[in-house]
Amino acid sequence: MNYISTRGAGAGERHSFSDILLGGLAKDGGLYLPSSYPRVSAEELARWRALPYADLAFEILSKFSDDIPADDLRELTRRTYTPQTYCNVRDDEQAAQITPLKTLGIEEGAPLSLLELSNGPTLAFKDMAMQLLGNLFEYTLAKHGETLNILGATSGDTGSAAEYAMRGKRGIRVFMLSPHKKMSAFQTAQMYSLQDPNIFNIAVEGVFDDCQDIVKAVSNDHAFKAAQKIGTVNSINWARVVAQVVYYFKGYFAATKSNDERVSFTVPSGNFGNVCAGHIARMMGLPIERLVVATNENDVLDEFFRTGIYRVRKAAETYHTSSPSMDISKASNFERFVFDLLGRDPARVLQLFRDVEEKGGFDLAASGDFKRVKEFGFVSGSSTHASRVETIRDVFERYDTMIDTHTADGLKVAREHLQAGIPMIVLETAQPIKFGETIREALLREPERPAAFVGLEALPQRFDVLPADAERVKAYVAKRVAGSVAS
Ligand SMILES: *Cc1c(COP(=O)(O)O)cnc(C)c1O
Repeated sequence: MNYISTRGAGAGERHSFSDILLGGLAKDGGLYLPSSYPRVSAEELARWRALPYADLAFEILSKFSDDIPADDLRELTRRTYTPQTYCNVRDDEQAAQITPLKTLGIEEGAPLSLLELSNGPTLAFKDMAMQLLGNLFEYTLAKHGETLNILGATSGDTGSAAEYAMRGKRGIRVFMLSPHKKMSAFQTAQMYSLQDPNIFNIAVEGVFDDCQDIVKAVSNDHAFKAAQKIGTVNSINWARVVAQVVYYFKGYFAATKSNDERVSFTVPSGNFGNVCAGHIARMMGLPIERLVVATNENDVLDEFFRTGIYRVRKAAETYHTSSPSMDISKASNFERFVFDLLGRDPARVLQLFRDVEEKGGFDLAASGDFKRVKEFGFVSGSSTHASRVETIRDVFERYDTMIDTHTADGLKVAREHLQAGIPMIVLETAQPIKFGETIREALLREPERPAAFVGLEALPQRFDVLPADAERVKAYVAKRVAGSVAS
């Protein structure tokens, strides 16, 4: 399996899965993709139906990472996808399934269900990929005798998923910036209560954008980055995308009885990483009818799928919503889909994403390519705070099921795209406890709290406060890398 850049540079070079695992963007600013998607045969699909999650993950991942010995990869997936890790379930028997399917009912002739992706350590779907990444990173670094210092900025879900995936891993430290006193008490406690010596929580005196600017400034200091072995785990990481392909297969098998059936998925979307994995599953041959992209008020993606116009937003135009993990101004994984939409023409992708930088977007409405969006199965919709609250209330009353704000956006939009006879699977991306304020508003009661999280906010917290100053952060990192100082 060879990986290429969406922007075409270095077309003659060969890049294996392990080569691109620890990196971010390709040298030309593009994103990595396989030179062609592996296809799944009818025999394979039939055999995979009976596999437990970890072995299904092995089968799918091995198609993309043929440079990792099969026995090692199988051991990694079995160690990652265990019922002990995905144990925050409503019903204990479901832990073994890793991503259980919860049937809601039949609406407009379509069986409607939730695919639970948030039963892992941080109660958001990002654990599904990040837990694998932690084990893959540790494995690859050990093989080459290297170390890695992950620097990131978070307003919640990503940072905690990264910390829980990397805690205690040999050869890895995590330096995570978060805005001081700006996260919810629950999210703060999730991150800051970690006591592992390789995890460093840095509370920055500023807002999330300040944290992100610091990460950018440090990443642009190439000498510092190389000397301190700085890396990232953001959503463009290819291994994260491919790990997410697995649960589309798992969800398909759970919602159908035979491989002649088709299903649709609705995906609460921000950076387009999750739904990009659905697109890849479909390209591999999984019988997916529709991929429904659900956004909140930050509707960059919905606008594109409705009109063909991709227009990134300025910081001032980006809303802070009650489904905050989808509050994006541009969708960092979108370029991977555009590459496929344009028939894999890197010169055109390069031009379009130059237009994004220089003119703030591009317009495919008039081009024949936009019509192909339908061939790829994509439709979309958006949500508001009012519809989010209404959906949470409705699902609780009708199905006795509590859902979080992001999943509510998904369900709201899914209902606009139901087709009789075709199961609709909504991806559940977080548990309600993470976004308690809106649950209280909608249901006038406390969100459900998995047993392992009782008393979380009272645990001792470990973090350091720094001013919003990249130089101070660099000094902090350098000191700890040099001396392995546990703060
Ligand atoms: C990250 C996140 C999303 C958005 O996923 P993308 O891959 O960025 O599209 C949706 N819901 C929750 C809860 C998240 O944490």
